[in-house]
Amino acid sequence: MKNYDGIALFSGGLDSILAARLVMEQGKAIKCLHFFSPFFGHPGRVAHWCKEYGLDIDTVDVSAEFVELLKRGPAHGYGSAMNPCVDCKIVMMTRARELMDKYGAKFIVSGEVLGQRPMSQRRDTLNAIRRDAGVRDVLLRPLCAKLLDPTPMEESGLVDREKLLGFNGRGRKDQLALAEHFGITEIPTPGGGCKLTEKENTRRFWPVLSRLDVPTVNDFRLADTGRQFWMGDFWLAVGRHKYDNEIYADLQQSSDLHFKLVGFPGPIAIGRSSRAWDAEAVQKAAALVASYSPKAVKAGEEGTLVGVRVTQNGQQHIVHITPRRESDFAEPTWEAARDELYALRKPAKKSDEQTDSDQA
Ligand code: SF4
Repeated sequence: MKNYDGIALFSGGLDSILAARLVMEQGKAIKCLHFFSPFFGHPGRVAHWCKEYGLDIDTVDVSAEFVELLKRGPAHGYGSAMNPCVDCKIVMMTRARELMDKYGAKFIVSGEVLGQRPMSQRRDTLNAIRRDAGVRDVLLRPLCAKLLDPTPMEESGLVDREKLLGFNGRGRKDQLALAEHFGITEIPTPGGGCKLTEKENTRRFWPVLSRLDVPTVNDFRLADTGRQFWMGDFWLAVGRHKYDNEIYADLQQSSDLHFKLVGFPGPIAIGRSSRAWDAEAVQKAAALVASYSPKAVKAGEEGTLVGVRVTQNGQQHIVHITPRRESDFAEPTWEAARDELYALRKPAKKSDEQTDSDQA
């Protein structure tokens, strides 16, 4: 574990592959770290990446740090959706710094390219990340190093500055040429697949952050699974298929309401809130859950009340309802999330605007 010269932030994107390989080409032993959370990362792909790109990769779970970041609110703001890219980089680099000793690393490698991202890869934000993560003396950005001041690693000769690069801007031509130089044929598509940059996922995640008192990693995983409905601060997640139900079984907490139809096939649903559910909210939730069972809907149309078993803290009771899709429980919308997110923005100078996605 202590035999590495450096550790590299590894998202799985092309820049992160090239940055690690470029430093490895100087004969340096590099351990790549793939950070993951409910919002980004593909730990299941690590074995493939190791083989395909000739890298040595460990995974690092930053879920807890990331949820803490969202709860306190990103100091550098959100991007085009719920992506706090600058603060995200600070979280990852801070964690990387903590892990240096474990690997015996003398520096951290990052694949950022000056001017490539409108939010986190401007010169001022690159400097802010380096400063706020406390990595000023150990951070090497090999793909754009020649456009930045020399680092202590270059000044001491630990890394040969002449063999580093000066990539700049959003184009991929230079990266593709370097990939060819390394014999890399499987080129990842641009964009790291971070869910926080996507409207569909922001509409799922934002109510968790804005309507629960103390959001947790578990909450964000639940928000990422199945159909999502909110009525004020009552939250109902309805499974779409067996796979969702299996995830719900894993995520369910004793304080949750667990909804299951009696005598009819239908979805599993989880009710969650920071406050106690009242009888009316339970009835409305049960009616909506039952509306996803065609047989229960048919029974309801024939005038039969449908039973839904509600379990909480080991106690069960059955509510009798008519299945009803029209409900005060509504799916959260991107537009509502966007309006609340944008209201949090500080008035931006023209040069400061964060109007684009900032995929790692
Ligand atoms: S897009 Fe990348 S930098 Fe931005 S929040 Fe997501 S993982 Fe972090």
